Amino acid sequence: MTLAVFCGASLGNNEAYANAAKDFGKYLALNNINVVFGAGSVGMMGTLADAVLEHGGNICGVIPEKLKDLELAHENLTELIIVKDMHERKATMAQLSDAFVALPGGLGTLEEIFEVWTWAQLGFHKKPCAFYNVDGFYDKLLDMIKTMSEEGFLKQEHVDIMIQSSYKEELITAIENFEPKEYAL
Ligand code: AMP
Repeated sequence: MTLAVFCGASLGNNEAYANAAKDFGKYLALNNINVVFGAGSVGMMGTLADAVLEHGGNICGVIPEKLKDLELAHENLTELIIVKDMHERKATMAQLSDAFVALPGGLGTLEEIFEVWTWAQLGFHKKPCAFYNVDGFYDKLLDMIKTMSEEGFLKQEHVDIMIQSSYKEELITAIENFEPKEYAL
């Protein structure tokens, strides 16, 4: 399996986030799960990549030329794919991956996971999407999703596409067992 991991270019203020990125990277490497990510060398991204590489895993980075030129790309990845812009980056990451997971992060992370979730809702792909809810980081966002659903802007079956867990083993098992449905628009 190849998993796209979206996560922050920063480390956050709670050391639980960096610890989770490190631990998750190790777990993916040891379980032969290939990783695709935004190729960053800093923050959660860099921590994840270093952990995957340290434990002999495969990690492919996809980065737009401009960010590469700013020397933001990790230099020791298994593979580095340089693309034209952010649109091509997200399309490439989506094509290469069998599933998507968001660790804690900022706007970039949210944008990436919401895009693939929206694509699933509209039937453009049937791949599982997941929040790795480290230390309750996504609790308030998930409350907002509940509000959207209760207020009639989001169908429950589209909420249910998104896997959420605070435990990496549970998260990966749910991704592996995910059964795609035909969703009503
Ligand atoms: P954020 O959550 O705002 O920190 O943004 C993280 C996401 O945006 C990552 O998954 C990357 O795809 C992208 N991104 C943001 N900053 C960088 C960076 N310095 N280098 C590479 N990718 C980045």
